[in-house]
Amino acid sequence: MPDISPNKPYRIGRSKTGLGLFATRKIKKGSKIIRYFGPMLDSRNKKHQDIDNKYLFEINNRWTIDGSVRKNIARYINHACRPNAESDVNTRKRKVVIRAVKTIHPGEEINYDYGTDYFKIFLKPIGCKCDHCEKKRAKKEADKRAEARAEKLRLKRKAEKKAAKDAAKPAKSKAVKTKAVKSKALKTKAVKTKAATAKSASKLARGKAGPHARGTGQPTRTKASRTKPLAGGAAAPSRKRASAI
Ligand SMILES: [Zn+2]
Repeated sequence: MPDISPNKPYRIGRSKTGLGLFATRKIKKGSKIIRYFGPMLDSRNKKHQDIDNKYLFEINNRWTIDGSVRKNIARYINHACRPNAESDVNTRKRKVVIRAVKTIHPGEEINYDYGTDYFKIFLKPIGCKCDHCEKKRAKKEADKRAEARAEKLRLKRKAEKKAAKDAAKPAKSKAVKTKAVKSKALKTKAVKTKAATAKSASKLARGKAGPHARGTGQPTRTKASRTKPLAGGAAAPSRKRASAI
């Protein structure tokens, strides 16, 4: 590990993802922490184009810092999505310094946002291990577990409710009910049969009355008896009574 002057407010230490840079003293918000440095790579130089490593810091389309050199302590600084420092790029001077964006306390790991390209290529495939992403992931997992627990409890309650309902129903009453239902069914059947009989009877009656209703051209016996003047019989006494009045 490279030597670091005791005057510096940081040290290299173990982090979640390997090594990292940690504050040894309070670092004030806005203050410069460390320079990110290394050989300048020129995109117009064919030899430089072949160089590829994880510590390339692109300043602009032409210039890139190759930060893989041992003396570049800033390369130990890990990425974070909600960092406490930032990379301050001076394009004209081709100089990069890491600056605190909030006050960093002793023991805290120093980090900055590596940018969208780095995140997409190196971090997204393996999952970002920064505090923010770890917390987000932990919350998501906890929510998932809580949801699963709630669903399990809901099903348990449902099963308990059903069991309680079944227990409340005595077996006897169930049988009686079935019987009652059966007798009701029989009754319905009987009513139906009765109705059917009545229906067929009326049909028959209608059939009998048919010739009279349609008319045969002959006066029916009933009609004739009504039109025929009544001589004697049932009507005679009433007539007699009328004349007597
Ligand atoms: Zn992250």
